[in-house]
Amino acid sequence: MTGQRLDFAREADPDMGLECLPDHLTGDELDRQILAFSQRFDPQTGLLNHQAFQDALTTLLRSRHPDQEVALIWIDLVNMRREFSVWGWTGAEAMARRIAGMLRAVVDDDALLGRFGDRSFLVATSATKLGKTGRRRVQAVMDLLTPHGRREAEASREVAIGVAFFPSDTESPEDLARFASLAAGRADYIKSQRVVAFHPRMNSLIMRNHLLELEMRKGLDQGQFHMVYQPKVELNTGQLLGAEALMRWNHPDLGAIPPSEFIPIAERSELIHRIFEFGMRAALEQAQQWRDLGLALPIVAVNASAANLRADDSPRMVRNIMEEIPIAPTQLELELTESLAFDDEELFTHRIRQLRAIDVRVAIDDFGTRYTGFNVLKKLPLNTMKIDQCFIRGIHHSPDMLALCETIVAMARQLKMCIVAEGIEELGELAVMRKIGCEAGQGYLFQRPVAAKEFTAFMRAWPKRMREFGFEDSRGLFEADPIYAVG
Ligand code: C2E
Ligand code: MG
Ligand code: MG
Repeated sequence: MTGQRLDFAREADPDMGLECLPDHLTGDELDRQILAFSQRFDPQTGLLNHQAFQDALTTLLRSRHPDQEVALIWIDLVNMRREFSVWGWTGAEAMARRIAGMLRAVVDDDALLGRFGDRSFLVATSATKLGKTGRRRVQAVMDLLTPHGRREAEASREVAIGVAFFPSDTESPEDLARFASLAAGRADYIKSQRVVAFHPRMNSLIMRNHLLELEMRKGLDQGQFHMVYQPKVELNTGQLLGAEALMRWNHPDLGAIPPSEFIPIAERSELIHRIFEFGMRAALEQAQQWRDLGLALPIVAVNASAANLRADDSPRMVRNIMEEIPIAPTQLELELTESLAFDDEELFTHRIRQLRAIDVRVAIDDFGTRYTGFNVLKKLPLNTMKIDQCFIRGIHHSPDMLALCETIVAMARQLKMCIVAEGIEELGELAVMRKIGCEAGQGYLFQRPVAAKEFTAFMRAWPKRMREFGFEDSRGLFEADPIYAVG
């Protein structure tokens, strides 16, 4: 990067930010100098601020030698907030200064150093040096952030570093910084690897997520979403216990987008509340229609995200919708994924109590995918436990899975919960789950999730079809006292 050295950066660089200004300055002259300084430099560390860094980077990339590659290293101090919580501004800024000093010590003289926001530090350096030497250089940064005392030890565990290259990853200076930041975000997410190189997939993913978020807003207004229904079958008698409502999104140009893709995107914004409200209304209205056709289902289940439950007004929202669309004797069950119980036990318990107080049934979904222990479960007033499909898959060939499921069933019994096996696809799996006393089942074997009209046809045909699955009792659909009434 010969000739690209940014002297103004170095001039302002005695490691101390504003303190580098000459002592003799006073009055207007001092104010002017402070203003000029703060327009280009971070006052605490003396590093280039993001605007000046971006300008300098653009100049550097434009005038570089055609063969020369440049690496942009993005360093996030992911524990900056905690540092602030413990030590206040002074401690947090002292840490930033220490890190700025460490970076100065480890990078070449002609590297560009900048700071973005409180917690991000940027280094642009010649990438020809980045092969093995470059990697060592990044490692040296890491090592410098390693323990000299307790506080630095904390910092060292929570540094996330991303690297992107010019021109191989991008020829745009703006994108170069964005890509390095994406890679740092990835490093923060995966934790196991603190330095991550940019990969084009990271950009396409973020772009697609952004597009889907924008489209979801439109799609909800334009009727692109609908619910499909999958039956839950009582495994002793073959009676229909209810239906789970699952959301579908058909985008006019992008096609069908699965909930596994759009729900996590919705969860990052208020969209998840619109999704929840839409799902509740659609499912309750549908349940009303079935009731009017003489096909009342004992339970209609709707999935709720952790984000829905965290919202203070979720029980009130549920109550309002239930008052607006009364479905008795059909009952609403909310399926809550197990991860929430794991994340925030206290809130989870409180919300379940609030929901139970307004007569909403509550199920724990995908049970077994997290680590909710008996001690947590026994405190929760849950109605239903849904064993995740990964335990059911091939259970008739796996004594280990069988033993595990027997234990889960026994535990659910002890806790007086109705237990549902998810994802039953084969007769062998059904036979085992019946044998071990699992009360209800759901899966492609009985019926894939289908639109309301097909589900109506399914309900009508079920009393005849249930014999195919070895159910003897083909009495009227909903005559027997359903086992779900437990708890
Ligand atoms: P879930 O609530 O555990 O739903 C069960 C998923 O397993 C559904 O996938 C269903 O189609 C699928 N499934 C059912 N039987 C079988 C089977 O025999 N074999 C296999 N391989 N799969 C089976 P789907 O509809 O793609 O939904 C995936 C997840 O997305 C749901 O898991 C739920 O967590 C979430 N989701 C779906 N709709 C909504 C919604 O309206 N709101 C929220 N918050 N989440 C939803
Ligand atoms: Mg579910
Ligand atoms: Mg599930």
